[in-house]
Amino acid sequence: MRDARLLLIEDDQALADGLSRSLRQDGCQVAAAVTAAEAKALVGSRAFDVIVLDLGLPDGDGREVLAHLQQLGKDTPVLVLSARDGLDERVGLLDLGADDYVVKPAAVDEIRARVRAMLRRRRARTGQTVTLGRLTLDPQARRAYVDAEPLTLTARELAALEFLAARADRIVTKDDLLAGLYGGDRDVSENAVEKLISRIRARVEPAGVQLRVVRGLGYYLQTGDA
Ligand code: CA
Repeated sequence: MRDARLLLIEDDQALADGLSRSLRQDGCQVAAAVTAAEAKALVGSRAFDVIVLDLGLPDGDGREVLAHLQQLGKDTPVLVLSARDGLDERVGLLDLGADDYVVKPAAVDEIRARVRAMLRRRRARTGQTVTLGRLTLDPQARRAYVDAEPLTLTARELAALEFLAARADRIVTKDDLLAGLYGGDRDVSENAVEKLISRIRARVEPAGVQLRVVRGLGYYLQTGDA
């Protein structure tokens, strides 16, 4: 979280203050907005690594801010805070470009954990070093380490691990892996993917990194705090 630039858009002053304080303790630089208009002006003029967005704002709906980000072509990850629950609501927000969703009232610790997970995914996507427990991935150097010790992986194993880390805490299907690692090559069997995953699990689990199998769906790399 160190030096992550975070924009907090929330009009509930008590929640905004509590969240700002905790996120600053985590090392984030926090900018705050109270209205949709302020938020739109800020995202238009400054760069952020992550945005926390309340939907119920005094001058409108937080969805306007999501739409504005899309118009600007910004792919900043957005965590939406909403009092409204339900599958349609979630799907609608994800379609609008939200990255994650927390139902209010939410504990500050849960919001912090989601922000950490989003920042971790963003770092992995943008080729920056990612830490998962005792495992460190350095995509630019194409290296992995456990504590400070280099971890020997094949190029394919490392690519798969980076692919999973960029989607940490989310389910990655075998099709996603086939498309992402093998370019959708039809000659690669699902069995080959399963073997690749089990080799990676054997390497990372001793370092305390859990690579979970969700039967019939796929896999996910569990970071433990989201
Ligand atoms: Ca509100």
